[in-house]
Amino acid sequence: MALIVQKYGGSSVATAEKMKHVARRAAATAQAGNRVVVVVSAPGDMTDDLITRAREVTDQAPAREMDMLLAVGEQVSIALLSMALQALGCAATSLAGWQVRVLTEPVHTKARILDVDRGRMLDELNRGRIPVVAGFQGVTASGEVTTLGRGGSDTTAVALAAALGADFCEIYTDVTGVFTADPRIVPDARKLHRLTYDEMLEMASSGAVVLQTRAAEYAKQYEVPLHVRSTFHEEEGTIIMGARATIPEESMEPTRVVNAVTHDLSVTKLTVVDLPDIPGVAHRLFNQLAEAHVNVDMIVQTASRCRHADISFTTSRSDAHIAIEATQRVARELGAARVDAEEGVAKVSVVGAGMVSNPGVASTMFGALAAEQINIQMISTSEIKISCIVSVDEAQRAVRALHRAYNLQDDA
Ligand code: ADP
Ligand code: ASP
Ligand code: MG
Repeated sequence: MALIVQKYGGSSVATAEKMKHVARRAAATAQAGNRVVVVVSAPGDMTDDLITRAREVTDQAPAREMDMLLAVGEQVSIALLSMALQALGCAATSLAGWQVRVLTEPVHTKARILDVDRGRMLDELNRGRIPVVAGFQGVTASGEVTTLGRGGSDTTAVALAAALGADFCEIYTDVTGVFTADPRIVPDARKLHRLTYDEMLEMASSGAVVLQTRAAEYAKQYEVPLHVRSTFHEEEGTIIMGARATIPEESMEPTRVVNAVTHDLSVTKLTVVDLPDIPGVAHRLFNQLAEAHVNVDMIVQTASRCRHADISFTTSRSDAHIAIEATQRVARELGAARVDAEEGVAKVSVVGAGMVSNPGVASTMFGALAAEQINIQMISTSEIKISCIVSVDEAQRAVRALHRAYNLQDDA
């Protein structure tokens, strides 16, 4: 008998029909003799709709109240899905994050999970009931409701699977697996059958929203095997587990120079112009941003001119408001000329473990973008990833051009 955590995303429970389909799928897994825990996201666009409703009231919604509002979406799903399961004769109990006790740090709208209490879930399982747990939400030690950042139900599922020592965590979604690029943008993208945690982590952190980055991190840390697959098709999806060294070579994707192209359209670029070029300046700036819980991604400092330099960095659009405020404060204190904020930018990246030992990968990337007349605003490189900041209007064209340039549509 296996213990399986199944997570169903928002599009999988968007209508009553889909909700009933999910109930049948979960019930069938249980009836086949498995112990099943279900995690579910808010139906359809409900999270976006709730954000819009907050904006209609104020453009500076307090983060605590935002969490109280957004946690509603997942509670709609757990109640409806438990009803659908019970209507099939399958015992089920809906559980909010605070009822399971998904304990998080006291940070609103993007809290990290600190601990998961498996007691209540085991209790339900031992009584023959399927726990249907709200994704994306947690509770602090002092009883405040928190949420885990967009896409956070993936992380709930992996954290529950880790706490329960589950055999598998299945991520059910609206695509049949993890592809060489977002299949909505690149129609001939190829499904990747096997990925290591590190490969998935690089893809997620550079924009592949099919799995939240923290879910990939958590899965790696606790060695939770993942299966990303479609809610509506039976075919096997993408299995994510282990390090390359521990998996038989024949069952892995071949190591290519570049494995995938990813993109992130919700990037904000900030530039602090004419900072004094003296020790401690970067520390002051990024320390303030860290204290404001802003995640900073790419950072570039220009060469010094007359003992002054510019620092540009990127952050996600959801952090932009706080980042601009914190940056303007430090810029004033340090005597910088001004802060420029640009929202209409995107990050496109090429990811692949074979990159480190292959010269020419960057040149192919820059060549493909040049041929499309796409201007590169910032570049960053790591051993297995190269990212470029481009205008958001050109991002999809950039992704398609890069996918072609590395022949990712073809089997190796
Ligand atoms: P869910 O609501 O099930 O969590 P998401 O919208 O969060 O679904 O994630 C699934 C979406 O991720 C797909 O519809 C697809 O457009 C997008 N996506 C982006 N990059 C990739 C990729 N490399 N492979 C598969 N899907 C991707
Ligand atoms: N409902 C949340 C969101 O839309 C969490 C999730 O879907 O994973 O971001
Ligand atoms: Mg998601």
